[in-house]
Amino acid sequence: MIDTKFDTAYAAGRFDLSLNILDGNPQMFNLMGVDSYYSIYKMLSDDEQKKVAATAAKCLETPELSYDECVHITFDGKLCCYILTIMLVPGGGAYDIKLINVSNTENRVNELNRRIITAREYIALTGESIFKYDYDTQRFHLYYVNQQQNVTIFDQNFEEWITQMLAENRIAQEDMETFEAFCAALRNAKNSQTYTFHGCIISDANMLERYRVSFKPKKYENGDAVVIGTWAIIHEATGDTNATILEDSYVDSLTGLLNKKSIIKYAEDALQSENREHIALSIIDIDDFKSVNDNFGHLFGDKVIKAVANVIKNAVGTSGVAGRIGGDEFFIVFEKLNNELEYRNVLRCIKTNVAIQYQDQMERKLSCSIGLARYGIGPFSTTYHDLFKIADRSLYLAKVKGKNRYIIYKPELHGDFNVQNDDDIINVSNTFYSETDINALHNMLTDLIVYGVDSVTEVLDFFAHVLTLNRVSIFLSDNGAPAYTNTLSPDIPMADPSVLKNLKYLYLFTNNLLAVSNLQSLEFSTPEVYKLLSDTGVACFMQYIIRDREGEAVGLISADVFDRRSAFPKIALTLFSDMCRIMNAVFIRENLI
Ligand code: GH3
Ligand code: MG
Repeated sequence: MIDTKFDTAYAAGRFDLSLNILDGNPQMFNLMGVDSYYSIYKMLSDDEQKKVAATAAKCLETPELSYDECVHITFDGKLCCYILTIMLVPGGGAYDIKLINVSNTENRVNELNRRIITAREYIALTGESIFKYDYDTQRFHLYYVNQQQNVTIFDQNFEEWITQMLAENRIAQEDMETFEAFCAALRNAKNSQTYTFHGCIISDANMLERYRVSFKPKKYENGDAVVIGTWAIIHEATGDTNATILEDSYVDSLTGLLNKKSIIKYAEDALQSENREHIALSIIDIDDFKSVNDNFGHLFGDKVIKAVANVIKNAVGTSGVAGRIGGDEFFIVFEKLNNELEYRNVLRCIKTNVAIQYQDQMERKLSCSIGLARYGIGPFSTTYHDLFKIADRSLYLAKVKGKNRYIIYKPELHGDFNVQNDDDIINVSNTFYSETDINALHNMLTDLIVYGVDSVTEVLDFFAHVLTLNRVSIFLSDNGAPAYTNTLSPDIPMADPSVLKNLKYLYLFTNNLLAVSNLQSLEFSTPEVYKLLSDTGVACFMQYIIRDREGEAVGLISADVFDRRSAFPKIALTLFSDMCRIMNAVFIRENLI
């Protein structure tokens, strides 16, 4: 029987009683041609329509049984034979249908792939990673299996790898001899062997782990000689294989998807590979997720994140790898799709299936916004860095266009995102500042130098207006209320100047200035500050550290934007930093700090 995951190996989906498509996996959407056939009947000749109608009727009579029917469908003038399997959904009202193409060997390959996947997942469950050493090339490949994909831990020349391990002190001193014996044995392995030693090779956790490394030499028909082995982390006390440590290093514990570090590494590696022309990166962000947390609590929020992760995992299937890169933000590295229609089918599948999650429990349907960037589409679209930005900007566009949609970046439609020269400062908001306004602001800054603090509020008001900021506040101590804010500042809790006590946070500033266009980027570097700011509802901001005569950080100027993820073009940063420098000088001159 087909479950709601719609089996990723074949075209599968759910149909109403007239056999019109209700939902399906990407293969089913592909097959139905999206707009061309919404009904199975439209794909069949008259005779076959009768056959299928009779089969569907049988399902209604005996709801617990599924029926197979051989049908012929013509695509692009080519006749293909399919096995159509049909079953009534428990409770009635709809059918689950699977279509297996038996005209070619593809279905057999799919079946084999599925068996391999199951075997791999089984290996992963035992908490072992796998390695391969090739005698000829001396390449050493250590990898870990997550959801059908191999995640590389190391893939390099064996001798270089050993040198690196020793240089980085990754082998416990007392086990050095065992490690060297293992290396020697691997270089000319003749029989199966097992070694046990301590080190910090796998999980990067800076903590000694105990490894059990077993391998076996193999010779293949084509003459290739390789050593295949397993690399397990062993629980010190029980001696069992310890899956958790391995999992924790590569997998996000809430969703089981790859974590941020490993999905990014995966994308970077994929973009270095020969297959790079088939790579696309996609970022998915749940819409208005804060309100899910606010209305139903964090625990329920976690369930929703898990459900969305599952939807993504099932829709992506074996066409790529998915990871979680932030609270409600996911990332897909597509590796096997060929054209825009195929991407659209997967993204549509995610969109429709997200909408049905917890639909009984929530007033508003759950939705998400998606951005996708394809390798080689548009200028500057070949490196990880550039592609990520394009995907991120496309996501941003999807959000500003009203959310609940996906945007596949196309230069002819969306213009040049101009990623090459603006580093981490994103400007997709098409913000054009008027030249007159900017000149007027410069004049005001001159006034500030001449007339001193009396004109501060006026400057802040105008500054907020010119740069469309919601709030600009000046704190002259590291706690307490701001000394100045713009007049139209909304009545919501303030950003907290106590961040000045957080040294890690201060390190993020360059020349006293920090601009953050995506708050989530703070989640990993400074989680405390991330929490503080996301609780106040700030979506993006620029900040400047005020320093006294001795250079001590004594205050903060914060320019905040709420409710929209936005971007600060270079000109905004320059203006902000000029304004702040002048204010800082005035505060010192007037002995306010
Ligand atoms: P938008 O439509 O613009 O995306 O709005 P949003 O409300 O979804 O806002 P945003 O994506 O910026 O916020 C994500 C929120 O997710 C912020 C944080 O409170 C919450 N969050 C982050 N991590 C977790 C988590 O692990 N569990 C839960 N339940 N919530 C989380
Ligand atoms: Mg969100």
